[in-house]
Amino acid sequence: MKSKVYFINLRASMKETLFQKLDKLLERAGLSEVVGDRDLTAVKIHFGEMGNSAFVRPIYVREIVKQIKKTGAVPFLTDANTLYAGAVPFLTDANTLYAGTRGNSAEHIDTAIKNGFAYAVVDAPIIIADGLRGRSQTGIDIGQKHFDTVYIGSEIVNADALVSIAHFKGHELGGFGGTLKNVGMGSASRHGKLEQHSGIAPKVKRKKCIGCEVCVEHCSQSAISMEADKAKIDADGCIGCGECILMCAQAAIQVRWSKSIPEFMEKMMEYTLGVLTSKKGKALFVNFITDVSPACDCLPVSDAPIVRNIGMVASQDPVAIDQASADLVNQEPALAGSCLQAGLEPGEDKFRVLYPKVDWTIQLEYAQGLELGSRDYELIEI
Ligand code: SF4
Ligand code: SF4
Repeated sequence: MKSKVYFINLRASMKETLFQKLDKLLERAGLSEVVGDRDLTAVKIHFGEMGNSAFVRPIYVREIVKQIKKTGAVPFLTDANTLYAGAVPFLTDANTLYAGTRGNSAEHIDTAIKNGFAYAVVDAPIIIADGLRGRSQTGIDIGQKHFDTVYIGSEIVNADALVSIAHFKGHELGGFGGTLKNVGMGSASRHGKLEQHSGIAPKVKRKKCIGCEVCVEHCSQSAISMEADKAKIDADGCIGCGECILMCAQAAIQVRWSKSIPEFMEKMMEYTLGVLTSKKGKALFVNFITDVSPACDCLPVSDAPIVRNIGMVASQDPVAIDQASADLVNQEPALAGSCLQAGLEPGEDKFRVLYPKVDWTIQLEYAQGLELGSRDYELIEI
């Protein structure tokens, strides 16, 4: 059976504002079926890296919070910390460093507020899912190909219900980033993120290491030693907790990005399964197909959108909503002045042009195989 994906375009008038249309979208997609009286509801969102400007606007989040509150539920905004802390350089290539201002709860909340997600705007508190340093995690047993257990930010597991609000855009490792990534990668603890990005121990960039030994002191497994005044990680002893990455102020310890993009996508889908295992019948997904930037909101910059602002979709099926969103983007002609130099016509695959080596269908196909949802959908325009 086809999964239902509800859609609103961005036309509005004095008779019906976009906020009213958004309310209808949530109602038709079944918000009141999945959240109810006193449900502590995790509103999973990406607050945007400092310098990014394409993330979902806080005023729309406020409207969704309002509708959740109307059901009697108690919403809080949440995301899990990123792998790195501190303002260290970003590079956009998949094999290079990823860093930013959301690696611990203090800076994460500070970034969220500066990006507009203050309580006074969104009318809900921010609770970072995996605690101050990303150590607060709950293991969920899934018994799948890559993972027996996945590690999710505890407050997302503890919540009674989940409403995912995702900004649909291009992504360097997934082709696109939507609901599945927002839930799977976004809810993972630092250890969980590290597991998805790499199956092996982090590496030391010897040129950056100043020999301070902070990482040695913080490695619970005694897997780091000093060799000629530089840190060295014993891959056999390392459990991939990511602690040393966070503690190294020189950003000398880095993830070994998985060479295998398909494997990365499969791992991310297994994490999505882990998150949703505890939310059966208690999850709703919303994608904003607006400001469709070519790359992830984790970057401290947003390039020009590749297509016009299309609208918003909502569904109880996390696979169908991402398939529908990808199709809606690809049905559009590319916007003049964007980074796209090919794939400009309606029907051409914009994400494959952005990331030729990334087959984005893998994440959808694997998620479907995990019975997270269906690629077969019915688009219902409201
Ligand atoms: S914390 Fe960083 S700079 Fe210090 S020894 Fe470890 S790797 Fe080198
Ligand atoms: S990832 Fe964890 S276990 Fe591995 S070297 Fe770093 S601190 Fe030690």
